[in-house]
Amino acid sequence: MLYINCPHCGMRSQNEFSYGGDASVKRPLLNKEVSDQEWDDFVYNRKSLRGKHLELWHHISGCRQWIKVERDTSTHEIFRTFKADEEVV
Ligand SMILES: [Zn+2]
Repeated sequence: MLYINCPHCGMRSQNEFSYGGDASVKRPLLNKEVSDQEWDDFVYNRKSLRGKHLELWHHISGCRQWIKVERDTSTHEIFRTFKADEEVV
């Protein structure tokens, strides 16, 4: 079982969270002309990366906040967690 350190609540079981997808995807700017390919890339197209990856998780059974989790997709090791609006460097 995974344990995720929610930046708002502390260490919690993965059972309290819902996976939300790739956190590195950037939404196209508002009021900007967007091609079909750019929109497809934002909505549908994802790389299935192996290794360290930044993901969105929703603490659905806790504080109900979205957070970012830096996790290795092959070992499930969690390195760091961030508030959703934190810039990750
Ligand atoms: Zn929380």
